Amino acid sequence: MADTPDYPALVLRRGEERRLRAGHLWVFSNEVDVARTPLTAFAPGQPVWIVDAAGKPLGTGYVNPSTLIAARLVDRAGHALDRSLVVHRLKVALALRERLYPEPWYRLVFGESDGLPGLTVERFGDVVVAQATTAGMDRLRDEVTAAILKVLSPAALMWKNDSGARAIEGLGESVELVHGRLDGPTVAREGGLDFLCDLREGQKTGWFYDQRANRDRLAPYVKGARVLDVFSYLGGWGLRAAGFGAAEVDCVDVSARAVDGIRANIARNGFGDRARAHAADAFEFLRSARAERRKWDVVILDPPAFVKRKKDFKEGSLAYRRLNELGMQVLERDGILVTCSCSHHMPREALVDGLQAGARHLDRQVQLLEPLSQSPDHPVHPAIPETDYLKGVIARVLPA
Ligand code: SAH
Repeated sequence: MADTPDYPALVLRRGEERRLRAGHLWVFSNEVDVARTPLTAFAPGQPVWIVDAAGKPLGTGYVNPSTLIAARLVDRAGHALDRSLVVHRLKVALALRERLYPEPWYRLVFGESDGLPGLTVERFGDVVVAQATTAGMDRLRDEVTAAILKVLSPAALMWKNDSGARAIEGLGESVELVHGRLDGPTVAREGGLDFLCDLREGQKTGWFYDQRANRDRLAPYVKGARVLDVFSYLGGWGLRAAGFGAAEVDCVDVSARAVDGIRANIARNGFGDRARAHAADAFEFLRSARAERRKWDVVILDPPAFVKRKKDFKEGSLAYRRLNELGMQVLERDGILVTCSCSHHMPREALVDGLQAGARHLDRQVQLLEPLSQSPDHPVHPAIPETDYLKGVIARVLPA
């Protein structure tokens, strides 16, 4: 092995190495041979060798003794978890994004899928935002900082460590600018438009890059159309539609802060004559629009995850179905519905089944035109279904 770091071993129970050998990166706590290597002996985030029951190393990784995912495999070749490993991974990630995008606006690192479990990195031009969601990655923070500065030489680097996922790992929340300066809002550039976003206070890491490829698909459907963008956040879908020539755009979000952001983005892109933002609950907005018989040619539904945990599936999938029915009820006779789910626990088939059931309930006919999934700067790890979380469909809705 290359540099055989001096890490303690975490020994798996017999047979429990199979999933890792098949490509997965996670070790669950019940897969650890705790008689030989008690989890309590490890500190949260401590680097280890992950070893099978026969003593064969599977690679290096890190432990968290208090989470269901007890360890994550980081490097099968057994390199140390240090700056040079992170630099290497960043370069590999960068090579993909540079092929995909002409400008540095994208997600650079998508955790496990980019070989850096627990890390998200996004680029907004010369501003970089990073987020660590596991104790192991948090422990590597200074190495990651140094690696990002080395590979990207950004003007500013912010750690936006305020994800709720951190609590599970026993980590606190903090937002810290560790390099450069960040004055005022940052711009996300997409499809030739500028979107002002507040990296400190904004949602997630500031911008939903995962929908970019899907928003690119709007072009043929929205020219001259009236478009409704529900759960709009900063106006991503709606303003991209305006950019593609939509005649009228309505953006709806329940967050007053988000709606202020949409208004700023409408002004910034010169869409004041065609686009409006409404601060409202989506369901209430759609119900009153239905009552007033208001109609749009294209309705976009991009809600937050309704199925956050597996046990919420029944209730959550019903919420998707209700939402889709409401969306169909405010569509013109030959309308386009764009509907999405970012819930990992909501399979694509369940979303489509709900759409179809809703359509039959309303006596409509649905044609599925284009499946949607997360943009390629959020690569899917084929062994880790959790990384394949965004699904959607562009559908045509006709009278029966
Ligand atoms: N469509 C956006 C991302 C949506 S994120 C994009 O492409 O960038 C989900 C958004 O839904 C958030 O902005 C949140 O404020 C909003 N939201 C959550 N619950 C809502 C509700 N009940 N009604 C309207 N908006 C809601």
